[in-house]
Amino acid sequence: MTKGPSYGFDTLQVHAGARPDPTTGARQTPIYQSTAFVFRDADHAAALFNLQEVGYIYSRLTNPTVAVLQERIATLEGGAGAVCCSSGHAAQIMALFPLMGPGRNVVVSTRLYGGTVTQFSQTIQRFGWSANFVDFDDESAIRRAINDDTRAVFCESIANPGGYISDLEEIAKIADQAGVPLIVDNTTATPYLCRPFEYGASLVVHSTTKYLTGNGTVTGGCVVDSGKFDWSASDKFPSLSKPEPAYHGLKFHETFGELAFTFHGIAIGLRDLGMTMNPQAAHYTLLGIETLSLRMKRHVENAEVIAAALEKHDAVERVTYAGLPSSPYKKRAQKICPKGAGGLFTIALKGGYRACVKFVESLEIFSHVANLGDCRSLVIHSASTTHRQLSEEQQTAAGAAPEVVRISIGIEDAEDLLSDLKQALEKAKV
Ligand SMILES: *Cc1c(COP(=O)(O)O)cnc(C)c1O
Repeated sequence: MTKGPSYGFDTLQVHAGARPDPTTGARQTPIYQSTAFVFRDADHAAALFNLQEVGYIYSRLTNPTVAVLQERIATLEGGAGAVCCSSGHAAQIMALFPLMGPGRNVVVSTRLYGGTVTQFSQTIQRFGWSANFVDFDDESAIRRAINDDTRAVFCESIANPGGYISDLEEIAKIADQAGVPLIVDNTTATPYLCRPFEYGASLVVHSTTKYLTGNGTVTGGCVVDSGKFDWSASDKFPSLSKPEPAYHGLKFHETFGELAFTFHGIAIGLRDLGMTMNPQAAHYTLLGIETLSLRMKRHVENAEVIAAALEKHDAVERVTYAGLPSSPYKKRAQKICPKGAGGLFTIALKGGYRACVKFVESLEIFSHVANLGDCRSLVIHSASTTHRQLSEEQQTAAGAAPEVVRISIGIEDAEDLLSDLKQALEKAKV
């Protein structure tokens, strides 16, 4: 499909990046299940390796099925380019990799997915990187946490799982003044509900495992670049602005302009880190994205009804859903995600940890799994699972205290979901 800026989201989610297969006419994007692609001749091969011509070499770097997904996600986010990779966690490393180096840090929100807290507080230290965790409601604390070694600011648009909404516009301004990019994990919002580039973010990361795929089949991730950050404005990003020794001295920003970050991600990130998405995974995610807006509308409708009902339930202490009129983040939600605050929230049970365990074990339609954003309704007791490696203080900061259960509302009938939740809450009382 030719790029038409006037096409709406629902049209783009079906068509962007794809065209009928030129040789067979196949209408659905084929799974190009091939490791390598034949060079026309030696000159063609040389041009590909020199990045003078864009084409397919080897599926660790690029693959035609994955390329369609990259273009589709970039288009839906309003970005210049995107690189898909093997998981959301891979995407986070891929996003930081061109920016960071030993001794450098990233300033991050305390309200993040539990796995990201562990990745940032522990694992990245092996690369000599570090993360400064800050309460992102405190703008002066963000400013104070940024120093000469900071290379990025990182937060989630709708934070998983606490129903917290980041004030992207204000945070982007702070990052901008410091001369570093704001990276937004847009997994729980999806570009249907929130487009972080419109609020000044420079990079977006996704776990495509969740809503973008929406059918619980494959893990994947994606880094999207707005194409707007000026990598050459300072000496902070030599991998992009200076000759890159890992690619025979190529200057990525000078050569590729707004696609510098994307080309770096493929030519160096995927080439040397190897966190590649496979074409089968790209296929399942492309199928999912075709119905993204329809699913997100339903997730939001269901979540709004169910969160409101649970808030009134006598076994429930509180519900953190930014779509509720009682939420302290309601206003912010209306600003950055006016179509709804997503399908994910937490409830705190008056009965504490033990009631939570009984509750998740008593549900029938909801499955107790470490996943979210599936069309099926899912639930998890974070404190005993995904967040169990965090201290109680970190758990509470991340919205996953011991009395809290995370609920990912699916697209089933809202009445069925609500009656399932109610019967499990009754059982959890005793
Ligand atoms: C699941 C998730 C991740 C990690 O993604 P994986 O695909 O599981 O690696 C990162 N951020 C958020 C907000 C998530 O929900």
